Amino acid sequence: QGMAPLAELRGASKRYGATMALEGLDFRVGRGEIVALLGPNGAGKTTALGLLNGRLSADSGRVSLLGGDPRDWRVRQRLGVMLQEARLPDQLRVGEYLQLFASHYPEPRPIDEVLALTGLEALVSRRHDALSGGEQRRLQFALAIIGRPALLLVDEPTVGLDIEARQRFWQLIRRLRGEGLAMVLTTHYLDEADALADRIVVIGSGRVLAEGTPAGIKARAAGKRLRFRSA
Ligand code: ATP
Repeated sequence: QGMAPLAELRGASKRYGATMALEGLDFRVGRGEIVALLGPNGAGKTTALGLLNGRLSADSGRVSLLGGDPRDWRVRQRLGVMLQEARLPDQLRVGEYLQLFASHYPEPRPIDEVLALTGLEALVSRRHDALSGGEQRRLQFALAIIGRPALLLVDEPTVGLDIEARQRFWQLIRRLRGEGLAMVLTTHYLDEADALADRIVVIGSGRVLAEGTPAGIKARAAGKRLRFRSA
């Protein structure tokens, strides 16, 4: 009997009108583990994250998060979330966002520590609208970790970034993994899942198509039984 998972979907289904976004999805995230949900556009990755962060409810199946229900805000408060569509008002400076977000948590990380981790020290007085795409992504990440989450959800962290910004983001994620922070991250890219994840869950049409270590999934992809783009 292992420890209880940090998060678990069991037979989770979700429909939008005629579209079955998820059809009995199962996966779990253990302590300190990085799980990559890998799949093409429309596979259901964002919907799966929506169930985990309590923004969506499953039509059937079970979703558990940090020992509770993700629709309970006390459970959600222990979750860090970095979403693709996250929008911040443009008028604040990096340091001001960090102060604002820190004020919502009982034991936030010190702002200096977060700035150092994310390499944003020199940008503390920069306005959001003057940041590059990679810098904005690092700010989103900084805001997601400032409350010391027990689990972090990251939706397609490097889509649209150039190679350098992407590598830098990977380093950042690895550093947090080194601290033992568990994550669920979604990606279209096998190389990204391979670089970051302990376990890859391949999703297509709302189902799990394959699951395994990066080495195992790569071997199956090489055998052409699974096909992916790479960046
Ligand atoms: P992407 O990589 O493009 O973000 P995804 O794997 O995250 O894709 P989802 O966004 O979860 O996939 O979408 C799964 C399916 O559900 C798709 O067919 C999508 O068109 C559909 N869908 C998602 N959100 C809605 C919505 N609000 N209304 C209707 N259909 C939706």
